[in-house]
Amino acid sequence: MKPIYVDNNATTRVAPEVLEEMLPYFSELYGNPSSMHSFGGNVARMIKESREKVAKLISAKPEEILFTACGTESDSTAIRAALISNPDRKHIITSRVEHPAIKNLFENLAKTGYRVTFVPVDSKGLLDLDYLYMHLDDDTAIVSIMWANNESGVIFPVEEIAQAVKAKGIVFHTDAVQAVGKVPVDMKKVQADMLSMSGHKIHAPKGIGALYIRKGTKFSPFLIGGHQESGRRGGTENVSSIIGLGKACEMALSDLDQMSTRIKKMRDKLENTLIKTVTNTMINGDREQRLPNTTSIGFEFVEGEAILLMMDEFGICASSGSACTSGSLEPSHVLRAMGVPFTAAHGSIRFSLSTYNTEDEIDFIIEKVPPIIKRLRELSPFWKNNKCE
Ligand code: PLP
Repeated sequence: MKPIYVDNNATTRVAPEVLEEMLPYFSELYGNPSSMHSFGGNVARMIKESREKVAKLISAKPEEILFTACGTESDSTAIRAALISNPDRKHIITSRVEHPAIKNLFENLAKTGYRVTFVPVDSKGLLDLDYLYMHLDDDTAIVSIMWANNESGVIFPVEEIAQAVKAKGIVFHTDAVQAVGKVPVDMKKVQADMLSMSGHKIHAPKGIGALYIRKGTKFSPFLIGGHQESGRRGGTENVSSIIGLGKACEMALSDLDQMSTRIKKMRDKLENTLIKTVTNTMINGDREQRLPNTTSIGFEFVEGEAILLMMDEFGICASSGSACTSGSLEPSHVLRAMGVPFTAAHGSIRFSLSTYNTEDEIDFIIEKVPPIIKRLRELSPFWKNNKCE
């Protein structure tokens, strides 16, 4: 059974064009880019080209791009660099809905003596900007606010936030892992000092990421070693993946229009039909300020995991809004921060589309999901007790 893959915020397939560009670097072009001979030098030249492609996608300068191993490493590198550069400042700010790559890091820093402000969101997942601005002070070392949320798809006004934070002389970082390749990201407009991105969300392989570091930003390497990446990250480069990321960024740039047209249209059809045909259903998150490929739908009085298992029987791959990996089946911190009612948070499913999805796949999901919810509700004591029919 061919999977109907609508879990692209979790990871994406490597584009065949990306794989094709990568393959020679495992076989014929295996030189070390640091070597003096031209066999290695040619590889260094290709890394340079790849850096240019990554920079172009976000309107940055090539020398502002640092290759890392993933979005998580980019996040950690950015935050730690800011803290090392501002050793006397002990206050850090982030939102309550960040990915664990930031959330857990900030919780960890709280245990080591940092004062952390977690900015709340409203029921639509929109950030409380007044709360954020109110908490900026002379002790603030860094503000890190994600560009777009991985669960709800809600987009934060990072251009405005960056301006306000920079006006106070505070370092601003944004985790743009979900935004890059889905919405325009222009570092000439957004005055962030650092920005994280990840390859496997944009059809490059897993194990490659990038950190944008604005020219002039104080920086300390996270990985201390050789002189690679202009001394900003030791370790022999992951050449094939760097080449893959460059190609993926080039493709993402030319596919960007599709995101706001064809993919958005399919997402809208999926969510509009499901909320119309299935009663007691809600969309988690603001429907305007949102990624064009993402919808998080709360089906009341059913368990998300049960929906996932039944969809899996038809090959439909999506995600639930529960922290099931913790074994608790608690709704995720994002849905809890938004105050999504427990009845809907437990039955929340995230569908996230990519350029590889088709209308036929969307029609298939629209056909299969309503009977699944109906069957599960017939078995649900909560549904019966609430007499929703
Ligand atoms: N930040 C966000 C918003 C994400 O969605 C993810 C991955 O889901 C990450 C960071 C972590 O990226 P990576 O898996 O490349 O470490």
